[in-house]
Order: sequence, then C-alpha cells, then structure tokens
Amino acid sequence: MKLCRFGQDRVGLVTGEEVCDVTGALKALPALRYPFPPGDQMIAELERLTPAMLEEAQRGERHKLSDVTLLSPVANPGKLIAAPINYQSHIDQDVAGSDIAYSHEVTSITRAGLFLKANSSLVGAGQGVCIAFPERRNDHELELAVIIGGRGKNIAEEDALAHVAGYCIGLDMTVRGPEDRSFRKSADSYSVLGPWMVSADEVADPNALDLELSVNGELRQKTNTRELVLGVSQLIAWASSVYTLHPGDVIFTGTPAGVAPVKPGDVISATAQDIGSMDVAVRG
Ligand code: MN
Repeated sequence: MKLCRFGQDRVGLVTGEEVCDVTGALKALPALRYPFPPGDQMIAELERLTPAMLEEAQRGERHKLSDVTLLSPVANPGKLIAAPINYQSHIDQDVAGSDIAYSHEVTSITRAGLFLKANSSLVGAGQGVCIAFPERRNDHELELAVIIGGRGKNIAEEDALAHVAGYCIGLDMTVRGPEDRSFRKSADSYSVLGPWMVSADEVADPNALDLELSVNGELRQKTNTRELVLGVSQLIAWASSVYTLHPGDVIFTGTPAGVAPVKPGDVISATAQDIGSMDVAVRG
C-alpha cells in the first residue's frame, strides 16, 4: 500500500499515476482528549484503518498525482531521528577529505551517535525546500527513511523490522558549517519525506534498495542500502535503546557519497527501489 497525504490534509492511496482520496476512513480514529498520546495517530491505528481505507478507495475521489501537492506522509511524528556518517563512501569522499568545517572529528557512527531534527522542519515532496542560509553551502542528503509503527523500547535487532510501518525517501537537507547538526539540519523545510509511505509488507528487504538522486537531471548520489554501516534493524535497536520510539517516529538512515550544494531554482529528483520517485523544488 502506498499511502500519501496531499492537498488540504487529505489522505490518499496511490496506484500508478493516480491518488484516491480515502480521508473518510479516518473517522474511525478514536476521539482524543488532552493530553494527546505521543506519536502520529494515523500511523498508530494503521492496521485497523487499512480495511476501511481499501473500502473507501472503492468510491473515493480520484486525482492525477501530477495535479496534487504531496505533503509529508507522516503528519505528526514524535521525533525525527537521524544517523550521521552511515555510509563509508560518504565518510571517505564527503567528510574525510572535506575542507568544510565539521563540528568534530568523529568519523564512526558508533562514536558519533544519532541526532534529532526538529519536527517543524518536515515537509512533503510537493512543498519543496526553502533555502534558509542563502549565503552558505546548502547540501542535499539522500536517505532511506523508516517510519516506526508502534511504541517500542529496547527493541531487539531480530524484532526490529516488525516495528516498521513503512518506508519513504528522506532528504536530510543540511547547511555546512560549524554548528551542531540539530541546528544545521532543522531549518523549516530541511526534512523532506516522500513521495508517499510504502507499507512495510511491500518492501522485501530494506537493506537492499537502490537509491538515486539527481539535481536538474545531473546524477549526484547513487547507492544501495546494503552499503549502510548500520543497517535498518541495527539503527532501530540502537535508537530504541536511547529513545522510546512512538508510532510515526522517523529514522533517517544516513546518506552515501555525493552530497553537493543546491540553490534556489534547482529541482532535486530522488528515486528509491520499491518506493517511487519524487521531484522536490528548491526555492529562495
Ligand atoms: Mn543525513
């Protein structure tokens, strides 16, 4: 199932070049009272909502994908977790040999730890990236993004994939400079998720997916997630040993070699095997 959010907070199922509005299925969500439970309630209830969504798809309004504005497939993540330096090619080509100031000299993910991006930085493919630091170098980072399905703490590696609701493409946009990652990667629109969430059952092996990114048609990043230093299960286990994971939490799994600058007017095109493709406009 390819689940998207689009337009004015509509929820849709994507088939081919069409999106079918299944927002009506969300009326089955429980009425909530303050204080609200942590996490994204649609993701939390997804298993229960799926039959209603499929039924709604029989009569829901259909749109061409090209006619809708795609939003982040997760509306209310509890947190955006991200893995730094998780491809050796990125460490070798972008980090180790770089003359760009990094905040520290740590070149192993197990020493660097994970970091968090502000939830307010999250946008969908159709909303685009707005450059927040026009006088500085702003880079694209192509990543596989993992959407957590349910609450979990100290998840074992062998159980980790059962905690995944789905996958999408993540762009971990970054301004270069000496500040903490959480500052440089958290400007509004610096976290892009899209084009939609593919449910976990449709991804045979998240650690064997081709990823590719080009800017204005020029290939910049190309890898397969089997090149991850810490794979998806290891990242979930590690993250959950530190943070309680909640439904809708997102893990950006890290970027391969080829991070490079973008500027207003550019179009970033990203493709992931089993997921799909998205074009993301860069604005000033
Ligand atoms: Mn990154």
